[in-house]
Amino acid sequence: MSPTTPAARDRLRIAIQKSGRLAEPARSLLASCGLSWRESRDRLFCYGETLPVDLLLVRDDDIPGLIAEGVCDLGIVGRNVLVEQDLDAQAAGRGARLREWRPLGFGACRLALAVPEGWAWHEPSQLAGRRIATSYPQLLTRWLADNCVEARVVVLSGSVEIAPRLGQADAVCDLVSSGTTLAANQLKPVLTLLESEAVLAGPAADLDDVRGELAQLLLRRLDGATRIRHSKLLMFQATRQLLPQLLPLLPDADAPTVMQVDGEDRLALQALCHGALTWQRLEDLRRAGARGLMVLPVEGMLA
Ligand code: ATP
Ligand code: ZN
Repeated sequence: MSPTTPAARDRLRIAIQKSGRLAEPARSLLASCGLSWRESRDRLFCYGETLPVDLLLVRDDDIPGLIAEGVCDLGIVGRNVLVEQDLDAQAAGRGARLREWRPLGFGACRLALAVPEGWAWHEPSQLAGRRIATSYPQLLTRWLADNCVEARVVVLSGSVEIAPRLGQADAVCDLVSSGTTLAANQLKPVLTLLESEAVLAGPAADLDDVRGELAQLLLRRLDGATRIRHSKLLMFQATRQLLPQLLPLLPDADAPTVMQVDGEDRLALQALCHGALTWQRLEDLRRAGARGLMVLPVEGMLA
């Protein structure tokens, strides 16, 4: 079968970034869901071995289009790219074709408006009549309209943050994670237009045929993998009377499993905790009467 044939209807095809920030985490997340691939020599198409789920390795900007055209069924892409291209499709009268199926918890960043460090920033109206450089013209234009600001949008495909120094713009609207790139260009972020992370993108409607079943299986595994990423299993023993003091110390835990050990009073508990189980927390639990505290890693989970 040719990797470019769109009619592979008995196999699910997922587009991920070929190289870049999302490439490796996307691949390892899918691998943690039990998928593995036989790689073709050009590494653009990876044939799924454990399940009929293949990968197409592409530029992140191409992913929404590939899904919309039906070349791929799903994709892993930044929310920033998905929303921008969806607004673009709507502006061209093509309507909303895609939706975010799941947030994936990596690739976190924000689309921020940044101005020169020397500006005293008070409010959006200060941007009236100014030039703002961005690679996200749709998101910026929507924000300007929402805030009744008339500014000029200067579209650049890269190196947005140096535009003010080059005299091409007065401010920028760009992706920020740590903020060091902005600071290196004497800019400061003043507003967030969009909070972003990597997402599983898919068509607006559910998939039918066998690909729909494969997608459901993948979603169940993804949900398990995302839930346990920062989770640990906490086990301990305590007497029944102490539960009212102990349970409030576990606000991030699912309802614990409680088992009775020798006699009425002595209980063994296990709880899946989603926050950090620091030494301090274990000591607090011990002080409240918990004994035999044990923290175990969680390898897999299926709700
Ligand atoms: P490609 O060659 O695939 O087009 P790219 O250069 O457009 O790659 P990357 O820089 O790898 O893309 O960024 C991919 C995604 O990573 C972004 O769209 C965004 O969702 C996310 N991301 C996380 N942190 C940052 C950051 N500090 N700057 C830019 N993108 C970030
Ligand atoms: Zn890109």
